[in-house]
Amino acid sequence: MAIRANPKLIEELETYGAQDVSKCYHCGNCSATCPFSQDPYILPRRSMRSLQMGLERKLEGDLEPWLCYYCGECSQECPRDAEPGETMMSLRRWLTSRYDFTGISKLFYRSWRIELAAILLVAMLTGLGFFLFGLSQGNIHHYDGVNAFLPGEKIHFFDWGLAIVLLVLLLTNCARMWWFTIGRDKSKRVPLTAYIKSAYLLPMHFMTQMRYAKCERKRPWVIHLILMLSYVTMLILIMFFVKRMAAGPAIDWRVHAFGLAATVGLLGTTIFAVRGRIKKTENHYKHSHETDWMFLILLIVVAGTGILQFILHRSGLDMAANITYVVHLMSVVPMLGLEVPFSKWSHLAYRPLAMYFAEIKAEAARAEARASQGVRAPQAA
Ligand code: SF4
Ligand code: SF4
Repeated sequence: MAIRANPKLIEELETYGAQDVSKCYHCGNCSATCPFSQDPYILPRRSMRSLQMGLERKLEGDLEPWLCYYCGECSQECPRDAEPGETMMSLRRWLTSRYDFTGISKLFYRSWRIELAAILLVAMLTGLGFFLFGLSQGNIHHYDGVNAFLPGEKIHFFDWGLAIVLLVLLLTNCARMWWFTIGRDKSKRVPLTAYIKSAYLLPMHFMTQMRYAKCERKRPWVIHLILMLSYVTMLILIMFFVKRMAAGPAIDWRVHAFGLAATVGLLGTTIFAVRGRIKKTENHYKHSHETDWMFLILLIVVAGTGILQFILHRSGLDMAANITYVVHLMSVVPMLGLEVPFSKWSHLAYRPLAMYFAEIKAEAARAEARASQGVRAPQAA
C-alpha cells in the first residue's frame, strides 16, 4: 500500500502548540539525552522525522508521544532550538483529538474561544439546573436534613450518571487508541495471553506514573503523584462517601480528614503549576497552551469552592453554603464533562494505556520470535 504524506502536517501541529519542527536536522542529541529513548521507541527524534515527512497515519499509530514525560532535557540539548519536548506535548494533544470520535477535542485544541464558550455554557446550564432542582426539593436556607436544598442522596444519583457517561466516552476513545496503535496492523498477531499477562501495568502506571521517576529531576514526578493521589481520594469520597461528607453539623473526621488532605493536595499542586507556568522556570512549563490554563483555572475554582462550601456549612451559614455548592457544581461538571474525555485530563488514561500497549507489542514480538525459532530449528537439524 502506498504511503500517503500530509505536507501540511507541521502546520496543523502548530495549532496544537508545536514550535519549530522544521529546524530539526537530525543530529540525534535529543535521543541520546532522553531517559526513555530505547529501541524500538526512539524519542523524540523519530517523531520529529515523521512530522517532517508528513507521515500522518504512522504518527496516529505511534505510542512514542505517550512514553515521553516532558522532562524537557531534549529541548535543552537541541542545538537548533527545535523544541522537541514541546513537539511531543503537541503530538499528545493531536493524538487526543484523533482518538476522540466526536470531534469536540479537535475543536477545543484548535480554538480556546470555543472551549471557553463550551465551559461557560455547560457551567450556566448546570447552575440553572441545580438551582431549579434545589427549589423543587427543599429550602435554600437548609443545607442538610429533611428540607435540604440539594439532598446528598439525590445529587449522588447525578454523580453516578455523570460517571457512567464519562466512562463510556473515555472507553470509546481508549478503544480507538487500541485500534490505531495495535488493532489495525494486520501484519502482527497479538496473542490473547499478552493482554492478560500485562494487565497489571494499567493500574500500576495509572496510580504511580512510576516511569516519570526515571527523569533526572524527581520533583515533577512527586508533584504529579500528589495530584494523582488527591484525584483518586476525591473520586472515592464522592462516589462512596458523599452522604457522610454532606452530613452535619458534627464533622465526621473519618471521611473529612481524607477530603481535606485531597483538597490541599489538589490546590497545592495546582498553585505550584500556575506559578511554574507564569515564571517559566522549568522546561515543561516554558510553553503553555490555552488548554493548560483552562484546566488549571477549573481545578482552582473546584478546590476553592469546595473549601469555601465546607467552611460556610460548618459555620452554620446554610444559604451561602448552598449557593457556593451550586457554584462548585458549575465548575465540577464542565471540568469532568469536558476536560476528562476531550482535553488535558484524558492523558491520565492514555499514558498507562500506552505503557500497557507497549508491553503487549513487546510480548507479541517475543512470541513471534519464539515461533520463528521453532520453525527454523527442525530445518537446521
Ligand atoms: S537535538 Fe534538535 S536538531 Fe537534533 S535531532 Fe533532536 S530535535 Fe533534531
Ligand atoms: S521531554 Fe524528556 S521524556 Fe520527552 S522526549 Fe524529551 S527528553 Fe524524552
